[in-house]
Amino acid sequence: MSSAPTLVWLRRDLRLADNPALTAALARRRPLVLLWLLDETSPGLRPLGGASRWWLHHSLAAFAADVARLGGRLILRRGPASVVVPGVAAECGADAVFWNGRHGTDEIAIDDDLTAHLHADGLAVESFRADLLHDPRELRTGTGGPYRVFTPFWRACLAHVAPAAPLPAPTALPTGPALPSEALDAFGLHPRAPDWSGGLAATWTPGEAGAAARLAIFLEKGIYSYSTERDRPDLDLTSHLSPHLRFGEISTAQVLAALDRRTPPPAAIDRDKFVAEIGWREFSHHLKFHFPDLASRNLQARFDAFPWVRDDALLVAWRRGRTGYPIVDAGMRQLWATGTMHNRVRMVAASFLVKHCRIDWREGEAWFWDTLVDACPAANPASWQWVAGSGADAAPFFRIFNPVTQGTKFDPDGAYVRRWVPELARLPAPAIHSPWTLPPARLAAAGVVLDRDYPKPVVDHAPARERALAAFAATAAEPPPERAPRRID
Ligand code: FAD
Repeated sequence: MSSAPTLVWLRRDLRLADNPALTAALARRRPLVLLWLLDETSPGLRPLGGASRWWLHHSLAAFAADVARLGGRLILRRGPASVVVPGVAAECGADAVFWNGRHGTDEIAIDDDLTAHLHADGLAVESFRADLLHDPRELRTGTGGPYRVFTPFWRACLAHVAPAAPLPAPTALPTGPALPSEALDAFGLHPRAPDWSGGLAATWTPGEAGAAARLAIFLEKGIYSYSTERDRPDLDLTSHLSPHLRFGEISTAQVLAALDRRTPPPAAIDRDKFVAEIGWREFSHHLKFHFPDLASRNLQARFDAFPWVRDDALLVAWRRGRTGYPIVDAGMRQLWATGTMHNRVRMVAASFLVKHCRIDWREGEAWFWDTLVDACPAANPASWQWVAGSGADAAPFFRIFNPVTQGTKFDPDGAYVRRWVPELARLPAPAIHSPWTLPPARLAAAGVVLDRDYPKPVVDHAPARERALAAFAATAAEPPPERAPRRID
Protein backbone atom coordinates (compact mmCIF):
# COMPACT_ATOMS: atom_id res chain seq x y z
CA MET A 1 0.00 0.00 0.00
CA SER A 2 1.24 3.51 -0.84
CA SER A 3 2.46 5.64 2.02
CA ALA A 4 2.15 8.88 0.06
CA PRO A 5 0.71 11.49 2.42
CA THR A 6 -2.60 13.31 2.05
CA LEU A 7 -2.37 17.08 1.92
CA VAL A 8 -5.25 18.83 3.71
CA TRP A 9 -5.55 22.49 2.84
CA LEU A 10 -7.36 24.34 5.65
CA ARG A 11 -9.26 27.51 4.79
CA ARG A 12 -12.47 28.60 6.55
CA ASP A 13 -12.44 25.51 8.75
CA LEU A 14 -9.95 25.97 11.57
CA ARG A 15 -11.32 23.14 13.69
CA LEU A 16 -10.59 19.49 14.36
CA ALA A 17 -14.16 18.35 15.10
CA ASP A 18 -16.75 18.12 12.32
CA ASN A 19 -14.11 18.73 9.71
CA PRO A 20 -15.08 16.46 6.78
CA ALA A 21 -11.87 16.99 4.77
CA LEU A 22 -9.75 16.08 7.77
CA THR A 23 -11.88 13.07 8.67
CA ALA A 24 -11.80 11.77 5.07
CA ALA A 25 -8.04 12.27 4.89
CA LEU A 26 -7.57 10.32 8.14
CA ALA A 27 -9.72 7.52 6.79
CA ARG A 28 -7.04 6.91 4.12
CA ARG A 29 -4.66 5.88 6.92
CA ARG A 30 -1.77 7.81 5.44
CA PRO A 31 0.47 10.47 6.94
CA LEU A 32 -1.12 13.91 6.92
CA VAL A 33 0.28 17.24 5.86
CA LEU A 34 -1.88 20.12 7.12
CA LEU A 35 -1.45 23.39 5.25
CA TRP A 36 -2.72 26.88 5.87
CA LEU A 37 -1.95 29.46 3.25
CA LEU A 38 -1.96 33.26 3.44
CA ASP A 39 -3.01 34.13 -0.10
CA GLU A 40 -3.02 37.90 -0.58
CA THR A 41 -2.42 37.92 -4.30
CA SER A 42 -4.95 35.67 -6.03
CA PRO A 43 -7.41 37.86 -7.93
CA GLY A 44 -10.81 38.59 -6.40
CA LEU A 45 -10.04 37.78 -2.76
CA ARG A 46 -11.07 40.66 -0.51
CA PRO A 47 -8.17 41.62 1.77
CA LEU A 48 -9.09 41.03 5.42
CA GLY A 49 -9.76 44.01 7.65
CA GLY A 50 -7.63 44.76 10.71
CA ALA A 51 -9.89 43.09 13.30
CA SER A 52 -10.24 39.96 11.18
CA ARG A 53 -6.47 39.79 10.76
CA TRP A 54 -6.11 39.91 14.52
CA TRP A 55 -8.67 37.12 14.87
CA LEU A 56 -6.98 35.02 12.21
CA HIS A 57 -3.60 35.30 13.94
CA HIS A 58 -5.02 33.91 17.17
CA SER A 59 -7.23 31.37 15.47
CA LEU A 60 -4.22 29.96 13.63
CA ALA A 61 -2.18 29.91 16.84
CA ALA A 62 -4.96 28.01 18.65
CA PHE A 63 -5.44 25.56 15.79
CA ALA A 64 -1.71 24.90 15.46
CA ALA A 65 -1.55 24.16 19.20
CA ASP A 66 -4.56 21.80 18.99
CA VAL A 67 -2.95 20.00 16.05
CA ALA A 68 0.37 19.70 17.90
CA ARG A 69 -1.40 18.18 20.92
CA LEU A 70 -2.54 15.32 18.66
CA GLY A 71 0.97 14.78 17.29
CA GLY A 72 0.46 16.72 14.04
CA ARG A 73 1.93 19.92 12.65
CA LEU A 74 0.33 22.85 10.82
CA ILE A 75 2.45 24.15 7.95
CA LEU A 76 2.09 27.87 7.24
CA ARG A 77 2.92 29.25 3.83
CA ARG A 78 2.29 32.47 1.93
CA GLY A 79 1.55 33.04 -1.76
CA PRO A 80 -1.00 32.33 -4.47
CA ALA A 81 -2.82 29.02 -4.06
CA SER A 82 -2.19 28.11 -7.70
CA VAL A 83 1.55 28.01 -6.96
CA VAL A 84 1.84 27.07 -3.30
CA VAL A 85 -0.61 24.16 -3.07
CA PRO A 86 0.89 22.14 -5.96
CA GLY A 87 4.34 23.10 -4.67
CA VAL A 88 3.68 21.75 -1.17
CA ALA A 89 2.03 18.63 -2.62
CA ALA A 90 5.18 18.00 -4.66
CA GLU A 91 7.50 18.70 -1.70
CA CYS A 92 5.81 16.12 0.50
CA GLY A 93 5.02 13.65 -2.27
CA ALA A 94 1.27 13.76 -1.60
CA ASP A 95 -0.97 11.80 -3.94
CA ALA A 96 -4.19 13.52 -2.86
CA VAL A 97 -5.30 16.98 -1.77
CA PHE A 98 -8.44 17.42 0.35
CA TRP A 99 -10.22 20.61 1.36
CA ASN A 100 -13.59 21.88 2.51
CA GLY A 101 -15.44 23.91 -0.13
CA ARG A 102 -15.74 27.69 -0.16
CA HIS A 103 -18.68 29.63 -1.54
CA GLY A 104 -17.33 32.84 -3.07
CA THR A 105 -17.30 32.79 -6.86
CA ASP A 106 -13.65 33.90 -6.98
CA GLU A 107 -12.71 31.27 -4.43
CA ILE A 108 -14.57 28.63 -6.42
CA ALA A 109 -12.70 29.73 -9.57
CA ILE A 110 -9.37 29.39 -7.73
CA ASP A 111 -10.34 25.94 -6.46
CA ASP A 112 -11.55 24.81 -9.91
CA ASP A 113 -8.30 25.91 -11.60
CA LEU A 114 -6.27 24.27 -8.89
CA THR A 115 -8.23 21.04 -9.18
CA ALA A 116 -7.50 20.92 -12.92
CA HIS A 117 -3.82 21.61 -12.25
CA LEU A 118 -3.55 18.93 -9.55
CA HIS A 119 -5.43 16.38 -11.66
CA ALA A 120 -3.01 17.08 -14.50
CA ASP A 121 -0.18 16.30 -12.04
CA GLY A 122 -1.87 12.99 -11.28
CA LEU A 123 -3.19 13.88 -7.81
CA ALA A 124 -6.64 13.10 -6.49
CA VAL A 125 -8.63 16.10 -5.24
CA GLU A 126 -11.67 15.95 -2.97
CA SER A 127 -13.81 18.83 -1.75
CA PHE A 128 -16.37 18.55 1.08
CA ARG A 129 -19.27 20.64 2.37
CA ALA A 130 -18.35 21.96 5.81
CA ASP A 131 -19.58 25.50 6.22
CA LEU A 132 -23.09 26.11 4.91
CA LEU A 133 -26.12 23.88 5.30
CA HIS A 134 -27.09 24.47 1.68
CA ASP A 135 -25.15 24.60 -1.56
CA PRO A 136 -25.94 27.95 -3.25
CA ARG A 137 -25.42 26.28 -6.61
CA GLU A 138 -28.13 23.73 -5.97
CA LEU A 139 -30.93 25.45 -4.05
CA ARG A 140 -33.06 27.32 -6.59
CA THR A 141 -36.54 28.77 -6.89
CA GLY A 142 -39.18 26.97 -8.96
CA THR A 143 -38.08 28.98 -11.99
CA GLY A 144 -34.44 28.00 -11.52
CA GLY A 145 -33.15 31.36 -10.25
CA PRO A 146 -31.69 32.39 -6.92
CA TYR A 147 -33.90 33.29 -3.98
CA ARG A 148 -34.27 36.99 -3.25
CA VAL A 149 -36.72 36.74 -0.36
CA PHE A 150 -35.71 35.21 2.95
CA THR A 151 -38.87 33.36 4.00
CA PRO A 152 -39.26 31.14 0.90
CA PHE A 153 -35.49 30.66 0.84
CA TRP A 154 -35.43 29.42 4.40
CA ARG A 155 -38.54 27.27 3.93
CA ALA A 156 -36.88 25.59 0.94
CA CYS A 157 -33.62 25.23 2.82
CA LEU A 158 -35.31 23.52 5.76
CA ALA A 159 -37.25 21.25 3.43
CA HIS A 160 -34.27 20.18 1.30
CA VAL A 161 -31.33 20.27 3.63
CA ALA A 162 -30.87 18.05 6.63
CA PRO A 163 -27.69 18.94 8.56
CA ALA A 164 -25.46 15.88 8.78
CA ALA A 165 -24.57 14.61 12.25
CA PRO A 166 -21.33 16.35 13.27
CA LEU A 167 -18.16 14.28 12.89
CA PRO A 168 -16.05 13.58 15.99
CA ALA A 169 -12.63 15.16 16.44
CA PRO A 170 -9.69 12.86 15.72
CA THR A 171 -7.69 11.49 18.63
CA ALA A 172 -4.33 11.46 16.83
CA LEU A 173 -2.86 13.01 13.69
CA PRO A 174 -0.24 10.91 11.86
CA THR A 175 2.37 13.39 10.67
CA GLY A 176 3.86 13.46 7.23
CA PRO A 177 7.31 14.72 6.23
CA ALA A 178 8.63 17.70 8.21
CA LEU A 179 8.22 20.53 5.73
CA PRO A 180 9.44 24.04 6.40
CA SER A 181 6.81 26.44 7.71
CA GLU A 182 6.69 30.22 7.94
CA ALA A 183 6.50 31.67 11.43
CA LEU A 184 2.99 32.92 12.26
CA ASP A 185 4.43 36.26 13.43
CA ALA A 186 5.99 36.75 9.99
CA PHE A 187 2.48 36.97 8.49
CA GLY A 188 2.08 40.33 10.23
CA LEU A 189 -1.56 39.68 11.12
CA HIS A 190 -1.25 40.85 14.71
CA PRO A 191 -1.13 44.65 14.96
CA ARG A 192 2.12 46.18 16.17
CA ALA A 193 3.17 49.79 16.66
CA PRO A 194 0.59 50.49 17.85
CA ASP A 195 -0.95 47.30 19.15
CA TRP A 196 -4.60 48.37 19.40
CA SER A 197 -5.93 44.87 20.07
CA GLY A 198 -6.18 44.92 23.91
CA GLY A 199 -9.97 45.28 23.89
CA LEU A 200 -10.33 42.43 21.41
CA ALA A 201 -8.15 40.14 23.50
CA ALA A 202 -10.17 41.00 26.62
CA THR A 203 -13.42 40.13 24.82
CA TRP A 204 -12.65 37.06 22.73
CA THR A 205 -10.92 33.69 22.76
CA PRO A 206 -10.40 32.76 19.11
CA GLY A 207 -10.14 29.04 18.40
CA GLU A 208 -12.14 25.87 18.63
CA ALA A 209 -12.13 25.75 22.45
CA GLY A 210 -13.27 29.39 22.60
CA ALA A 211 -16.12 28.60 20.21
CA ALA A 212 -17.23 25.60 22.26
CA ALA A 213 -17.15 27.69 25.44
CA ARG A 214 -19.31 30.42 23.84
CA LEU A 215 -21.82 27.84 22.68
CA ALA A 216 -21.99 26.27 26.15
CA ILE A 217 -22.62 29.66 27.78
CA PHE A 218 -25.35 30.49 25.27
CA LEU A 219 -27.08 27.13 25.72
CA GLU A 220 -26.94 27.56 29.48
CA LYS A 221 -28.97 30.77 29.47
CA GLY A 222 -29.40 32.97 26.37
CA ILE A 223 -31.28 30.44 24.28
CA TYR A 224 -34.13 30.24 26.82
CA SER A 225 -35.20 33.84 26.23
CA TYR A 226 -33.71 34.35 22.77
CA SER A 227 -36.91 35.37 20.99
CA THR A 228 -37.73 38.10 23.49
CA GLU A 229 -34.31 39.33 24.62
CA ARG A 230 -32.09 39.01 21.58
CA ASP A 231 -32.76 42.67 20.78
CA ARG A 232 -31.49 43.95 24.14
CA PRO A 233 -27.88 45.14 23.92
CA ASP A 234 -27.88 45.83 27.67
CA LEU A 235 -28.61 42.16 28.43
CA ASP A 236 -26.22 40.84 25.79
CA LEU A 237 -27.65 37.32 25.75
CA THR A 238 -27.03 36.32 22.12
CA SER A 239 -24.58 33.55 21.25
CA HIS A 240 -21.50 35.58 20.17
CA LEU A 241 -20.73 32.77 17.77
CA SER A 242 -20.43 34.89 14.62
CA PRO A 243 -16.62 35.24 14.44
CA HIS A 244 -16.19 31.58 15.38
CA LEU A 245 -18.55 30.60 12.56
CA ARG A 246 -16.85 33.05 10.22
CA PHE A 247 -13.46 31.38 10.67
CA GLY A 248 -14.91 27.88 10.85
CA GLU A 249 -13.89 27.20 14.43
CA ILE A 250 -17.32 25.66 14.88
CA SER A 251 -19.78 24.45 12.26
CA THR A 252 -23.46 25.24 11.95
CA ALA A 253 -24.13 21.51 12.14
CA GLN A 254 -22.36 21.37 15.53
CA VAL A 255 -24.36 24.35 16.78
CA LEU A 256 -27.68 22.88 15.67
CA ALA A 257 -26.87 19.43 17.05
CA ALA A 258 -25.92 20.88 20.44
CA LEU A 259 -29.12 22.94 20.44
CA ASP A 260 -31.22 19.84 19.84
CA ARG A 261 -29.43 17.88 22.58
CA ARG A 262 -30.06 20.59 25.15
CA THR A 263 -32.13 19.64 28.21
CA PRO A 264 -34.52 21.00 29.12
CA PRO A 265 -35.26 21.81 25.49
CA PRO A 266 -35.77 25.51 24.78
CA ALA A 267 -39.29 26.63 23.81
CA ALA A 268 -39.95 26.21 20.08
CA ILE A 269 -40.27 29.98 19.67
CA ASP A 270 -36.74 30.55 21.02
CA ARG A 271 -35.21 27.64 19.15
CA ASP A 272 -36.83 28.55 15.83
CA LYS A 273 -35.88 32.21 16.11
CA PHE A 274 -32.25 31.31 16.75
CA VAL A 275 -32.18 28.75 13.94
CA ALA A 276 -33.69 31.37 11.60
CA GLU A 277 -30.74 33.66 12.36
CA ILE A 278 -28.46 30.88 11.17
CA GLY A 279 -30.81 30.93 8.17
CA TRP A 280 -29.98 34.60 7.55
CA ARG A 281 -26.36 33.61 7.44
CA GLU A 282 -27.17 30.99 4.82
CA PHE A 283 -29.27 33.52 2.87
CA SER A 284 -26.40 36.04 2.89
CA HIS A 285 -24.07 33.46 1.35
CA HIS A 286 -26.76 32.53 -1.17
CA LEU A 287 -26.97 36.17 -2.25
CA LYS A 288 -23.20 36.60 -2.32
CA PHE A 289 -22.82 33.59 -4.57
CA HIS A 290 -25.45 34.75 -7.03
CA PHE A 291 -24.52 38.45 -6.83
CA PRO A 292 -20.74 38.38 -6.39
CA ASP A 293 -20.45 42.19 -6.37
CA LEU A 294 -22.80 42.45 -3.38
CA ALA A 295 -20.29 44.65 -1.51
CA SER A 296 -19.98 47.20 -4.29
CA ARG A 297 -23.23 47.25 -6.24
CA ASN A 298 -26.84 47.92 -5.25
CA LEU A 299 -28.95 44.81 -5.70
CA GLN A 300 -31.82 47.10 -6.68
CA ALA A 301 -30.51 49.17 -9.56
CA ARG A 302 -32.76 52.15 -8.78
CA PHE A 303 -30.45 52.93 -5.87
CA ASP A 304 -27.69 53.65 -8.38
CA ALA A 305 -29.29 57.09 -8.77
CA PHE A 306 -29.65 57.77 -5.05
CA PRO A 307 -28.22 61.19 -4.14
CA TRP A 308 -25.74 60.10 -1.48
CA VAL A 309 -24.13 62.91 0.46
CA ARG A 310 -20.35 63.21 0.73
CA ASP A 311 -19.59 64.57 4.18
CA ASP A 312 -16.29 63.46 5.66
CA ALA A 313 -16.82 65.25 8.97
CA LEU A 314 -20.11 63.41 9.50
CA LEU A 315 -18.52 60.10 8.52
CA VAL A 316 -15.69 60.63 11.00
CA ALA A 317 -18.18 61.56 13.76
CA TRP A 318 -20.06 58.32 13.08
CA ARG A 319 -16.91 56.18 13.05
CA ARG A 320 -15.68 57.68 16.32
CA GLY A 321 -19.00 57.44 18.13
CA ARG A 322 -19.48 61.20 18.36
CA THR A 323 -22.83 61.71 16.60
CA GLY A 324 -24.62 63.03 19.69
CA TYR A 325 -27.06 60.08 19.59
CA PRO A 326 -26.02 57.91 22.57
CA ILE A 327 -27.24 54.54 21.26
CA VAL A 328 -25.39 55.06 17.96
CA ASP A 329 -22.25 56.28 19.72
CA ALA A 330 -22.32 53.41 22.23
CA GLY A 331 -22.47 50.93 19.37
CA MET A 332 -19.67 52.54 17.39
CA ARG A 333 -17.44 52.67 20.47
CA GLN A 334 -18.25 49.07 21.36
CA LEU A 335 -17.21 48.15 17.83
CA TRP A 336 -13.92 50.02 18.04
CA ALA A 337 -13.06 48.64 21.47
CA THR A 338 -14.14 45.01 21.06
CA GLY A 339 -14.54 44.25 17.35
CA THR A 340 -18.24 43.60 17.67
CA MET A 341 -21.55 45.40 18.10
CA HIS A 342 -24.90 44.04 19.16
CA ASN A 343 -27.16 43.25 16.18
CA ARG A 344 -29.93 45.69 17.11
CA VAL A 345 -27.39 48.48 17.49
CA ARG A 346 -25.74 47.52 14.18
CA MET A 347 -29.11 48.11 12.56
CA VAL A 348 -29.62 51.46 14.31
CA ALA A 349 -26.07 52.71 13.66
CA ALA A 350 -26.16 51.60 10.02
CA SER A 351 -29.57 53.15 9.47
CA PHE A 352 -28.34 56.39 11.02
CA LEU A 353 -25.42 56.61 8.61
CA VAL A 354 -27.46 55.74 5.53
CA LYS A 355 -30.70 57.54 6.27
CA HIS A 356 -30.03 60.40 8.70
CA CYS A 357 -26.66 61.26 7.15
CA ARG A 358 -27.47 59.91 3.66
CA ILE A 359 -23.91 58.62 3.40
CA ASP A 360 -23.45 55.77 0.94
CA TRP A 361 -23.91 52.37 2.62
CA ARG A 362 -20.60 51.26 1.06
CA GLU A 363 -18.74 53.66 3.39
CA GLY A 364 -20.32 52.00 6.40
CA GLU A 365 -19.79 48.52 5.02
CA ALA A 366 -16.09 49.25 4.53
CA TRP A 367 -15.73 50.52 8.11
CA PHE A 368 -17.48 47.46 9.53
CA TRP A 369 -15.31 45.27 7.28
CA ASP A 370 -12.20 46.73 8.86
CA THR A 371 -13.37 46.79 12.47
CA LEU A 372 -15.60 43.72 12.98
CA VAL A 373 -14.01 40.47 14.11
CA ASP A 374 -16.90 38.67 12.39
CA ALA A 375 -16.58 40.72 9.16
CA CYS A 376 -18.08 38.34 6.64
CA PRO A 377 -17.85 38.84 2.87
CA ALA A 378 -21.49 37.74 2.59
CA ALA A 379 -23.29 38.83 5.77
CA ASN A 380 -21.72 42.28 6.00
CA PRO A 381 -22.69 43.62 2.55
CA ALA A 382 -26.02 41.75 2.60
CA SER A 383 -26.89 43.34 5.97
CA TRP A 384 -25.82 46.81 4.84
CA GLN A 385 -27.90 46.55 1.70
CA TRP A 386 -30.79 45.26 3.80
CA VAL A 387 -30.58 48.32 6.08
CA ALA A 388 -30.14 50.71 3.13
CA GLY A 389 -33.17 49.29 1.38
CA SER A 390 -31.14 48.52 -1.74
CA GLY A 391 -30.79 44.79 -1.07
CA ALA A 392 -32.79 41.60 -1.32
CA ASP A 393 -35.83 41.40 0.95
CA ALA A 394 -34.61 44.68 2.38
CA ALA A 395 -36.08 46.90 5.08
CA PRO A 396 -38.10 49.48 3.17
CA PHE A 397 -36.25 52.77 2.86
CA PHE A 398 -39.11 54.70 4.45
CA ARG A 399 -38.68 52.74 7.69
CA ILE A 400 -36.29 55.09 9.42
CA PHE A 401 -35.21 54.16 12.93
CA ASN A 402 -35.52 56.92 15.47
CA PRO A 403 -32.32 56.49 17.50
CA VAL A 404 -33.95 57.91 20.63
CA THR A 405 -36.94 55.59 20.64
CA GLN A 406 -34.73 52.64 19.69
CA GLY A 407 -32.53 53.47 22.67
CA THR A 408 -35.38 53.81 25.15
CA LYS A 409 -37.02 50.63 23.89
CA PHE A 410 -34.02 48.32 23.75
CA ASP A 411 -31.79 49.85 26.43
CA PRO A 412 -34.52 50.98 28.81
CA ASP A 413 -32.30 51.61 31.84
CA GLY A 414 -29.47 53.06 29.77
CA ALA A 415 -27.00 50.41 30.98
CA TYR A 416 -25.57 49.84 27.50
CA VAL A 417 -25.04 53.56 26.91
CA ARG A 418 -23.55 54.00 30.37
CA ARG A 419 -21.02 51.27 29.64
CA TRP A 420 -19.82 52.61 26.29
CA VAL A 421 -20.41 56.35 26.68
CA PRO A 422 -19.17 56.82 30.24
CA GLU A 423 -19.36 60.63 30.07
CA LEU A 424 -23.16 60.22 30.19
CA ALA A 425 -23.13 57.63 32.99
CA ARG A 426 -24.74 59.90 35.58
CA LEU A 427 -27.71 60.83 33.41
CA PRO A 428 -31.06 59.24 34.27
CA ALA A 429 -32.99 56.95 31.92
CA PRO A 430 -34.78 57.53 29.63
CA ALA A 431 -33.21 61.00 29.10
CA ILE A 432 -29.78 59.38 28.73
CA HIS A 433 -30.88 58.60 25.17
CA SER A 434 -31.56 62.28 24.38
CA PRO A 435 -29.24 64.38 26.58
CA TRP A 436 -30.02 67.59 24.68
CA THR A 437 -33.59 67.46 26.06
CA LEU A 438 -32.36 67.98 29.63
CA PRO A 439 -31.97 71.50 31.04
CA PRO A 440 -28.31 72.62 31.23
CA ALA A 441 -28.45 72.68 35.05
CA ARG A 442 -29.58 69.06 35.16
CA LEU A 443 -26.80 68.11 32.73
CA ALA A 444 -24.24 70.05 34.74
CA ALA A 445 -25.32 68.22 37.91
CA ALA A 446 -24.39 64.99 36.07
CA GLY A 447 -21.08 66.50 34.97
CA VAL A 448 -22.08 67.05 31.33
CA VAL A 449 -21.75 70.21 29.28
CA LEU A 450 -22.96 69.56 25.74
CA ASP A 451 -20.40 70.17 23.03
CA ARG A 452 -17.70 70.07 25.67
CA ASP A 453 -18.09 66.61 27.19
CA TYR A 454 -20.45 65.11 24.65
CA PRO A 455 -21.62 66.44 21.25
CA LYS A 456 -25.01 67.87 20.44
CA PRO A 457 -26.72 65.80 17.70
CA VAL A 458 -24.80 66.16 14.43
CA VAL A 459 -28.12 66.07 12.57
CA ASP A 460 -31.66 66.65 13.82
CA HIS A 461 -33.83 63.57 13.57
CA ALA A 462 -37.06 65.09 12.16
CA PRO A 463 -35.60 67.16 9.26
CA ALA A 464 -33.06 64.40 8.48
CA ARG A 465 -35.92 61.96 8.21
CA GLU A 466 -37.84 64.26 5.87
CA ARG A 467 -34.77 64.78 3.66
CA ALA A 468 -34.18 61.02 3.46
CA LEU A 469 -37.79 60.36 2.54
CA ALA A 470 -37.73 63.05 -0.17
CA ALA A 471 -34.52 61.66 -1.65
CA PHE A 472 -35.99 58.19 -1.64
CA ALA A 473 -39.26 59.33 -3.22
CA ALA A 474 -37.28 60.82 -6.11
CA THR A 475 -35.23 57.61 -6.47
CA ALA A 476 -38.25 55.36 -6.24
CA ALA A 477 -40.26 57.23 -8.89
CA GLU A 478 -39.07 54.67 -11.41
CA PRO A 479 -40.30 51.08 -11.07
CA PRO A 480 -37.77 49.09 -9.05
CA PRO A 481 -35.55 47.17 -11.45
CA GLU A 482 -33.53 44.36 -9.97
CA ARG A 483 -30.09 43.18 -10.92
CA ALA A 484 -29.96 39.99 -12.91
CA PRO A 485 -28.15 37.26 -11.03
CA ARG A 486 -24.84 36.00 -12.26
CA ARG A 487 -25.38 33.53 -15.09
CA ILE A 488 -24.96 30.01 -13.83
CA ASP A 489 -24.49 27.23 -16.29
P1 FAD B 1 -26.87 35.44 17.34
O1 FAD B 1 -28.05 36.30 17.52
O2 FAD B 1 -26.51 34.54 18.43
O3 FAD B 1 -27.11 34.63 15.98
C1 FAD B 1 -26.52 33.35 15.73
C2 FAD B 1 -25.73 33.39 14.43
O4 FAD B 1 -26.59 33.64 13.33
C3 FAD B 1 -24.70 34.51 14.38
O5 FAD B 1 -23.52 34.12 15.03
C4 FAD B 1 -24.52 34.69 12.88
O6 FAD B 1 -23.65 33.73 12.34
C5 FAD B 1 -25.92 34.43 12.35
N1 FAD B 1 -26.68 35.67 12.18
C6 FAD B 1 -27.42 36.32 13.09
N2 FAD B 1 -28.02 37.39 12.54
C7 FAD B 1 -27.63 37.43 11.25
C8 FAD B 1 -27.92 38.30 10.15
N3 FAD B 1 -28.77 39.34 10.27
N4 FAD B 1 -27.34 38.05 8.96
C9 FAD B 1 -26.51 36.99 8.80
N5 FAD B 1 -26.21 36.13 9.80
C10 FAD B 1 -26.77 36.35 11.01
N6 FAD B 1 -22.98 39.12 10.84
C11 FAD B 1 -21.80 38.51 10.55
O7 FAD B 1 -21.64 37.33 10.89
N7 FAD B 1 -20.79 39.18 9.90
C12 FAD B 1 -20.92 40.48 9.50
O8 FAD B 1 -20.00 41.03 8.90
C13 FAD B 1 -22.14 41.15 9.82
N8 FAD B 1 -22.31 42.46 9.48
C14 FAD B 1 -23.49 43.08 9.78
C15 FAD B 1 -23.68 44.41 9.41
C16 FAD B 1 -24.87 45.06 9.70
C17 FAD B 1 -25.07 46.50 9.26
C18 FAD B 1 -25.89 44.38 10.36
C19 FAD B 1 -27.21 45.06 10.68
C20 FAD B 1 -25.74 43.05 10.74
C21 FAD B 1 -24.55 42.38 10.44
N9 FAD B 1 -24.35 41.03 10.80
C22 FAD B 1 -23.17 40.41 10.49
C23 FAD B 1 -25.45 40.23 11.37
C24 FAD B 1 -25.55 40.18 12.91
O9 FAD B 1 -25.50 41.48 13.43
C25 FAD B 1 -24.47 39.34 13.56
O10 FAD B 1 -24.39 38.06 12.94
C26 FAD B 1 -24.77 39.13 15.05
O11 FAD B 1 -24.86 40.36 15.71
C27 FAD B 1 -23.68 38.28 15.68
O12 FAD B 1 -23.93 38.12 17.05
P2 FAD B 1 -24.26 36.69 17.62
O13 FAD B 1 -23.26 35.71 17.14
O14 FAD B 1 -24.41 36.84 19.10
O15 FAD B 1 -25.65 36.40 16.92
